[in-house]
Amino acid sequence: MKRAIYPGSFDPLTNGHMDIIVRSAAIVDELYVGVLNNRAKNSLFSVDERVSMIKEMTETISNVKVVSFDGLLVDFAREIQANIIIRGLRAVTDFEYELQIAQTNHVEYNEIETIFLTTSLQYSYLSSTIVKEFAAYGGDISQFVAPQFVDRIYDKYGIDPEKRCRKQ
Ligand code: ADP
Repeated sequence: MKRAIYPGSFDPLTNGHMDIIVRSAAIVDELYVGVLNNRAKNSLFSVDERVSMIKEMTETISNVKVVSFDGLLVDFAREIQANIIIRGLRAVTDFEYELQIAQTNHVEYNEIETIFLTTSLQYSYLSSTIVKEFAAYGGDISQFVAPQFVDRIYDKYGIDPEKRCRKQ
């Protein structure tokens, strides 16, 4: 049984994250999407909101479970008996950090392997940070996230509905 965890902040979930979820769910038996409850970090959406947004988007993928976790990823992976970590790689800038983390995780938990999926080309520029920066100024985010999240994101920034940019 191949059980994997795909960890992240998902603040908010983007089309790039969804792409990794769909593709990795197709190659493992069970995929846990692990939403990091990082108390030190100021997140736009609460951990419960992030979990429910991802659940909303994955309800038709039968082998995906969405959970929140805090503390060390390797400890959580052990707890749920996952021995694969899925990470997305967008560009070389992701690589150095991801390599370090993957190697450290392997030292901490010998049975765990990290699998990197390279981003689909159309999402290689996309990050939650970019979505938030555009949304904060009413920029068009409709190509970055699921349609039902667009207004929820603008609402967080109190963007006047008149000033919300829409793709024509
Ligand atoms: P972000 O960097 O968008 O804030 P997270 O911290 O939630 O995202 O990242 C969770 C995982 O998703 C990481 O492995 C990250 O590399 C991957 N990821 C994020 N955006 C994309 C994307 N556009 N394409 C592929 N993988 C991505």
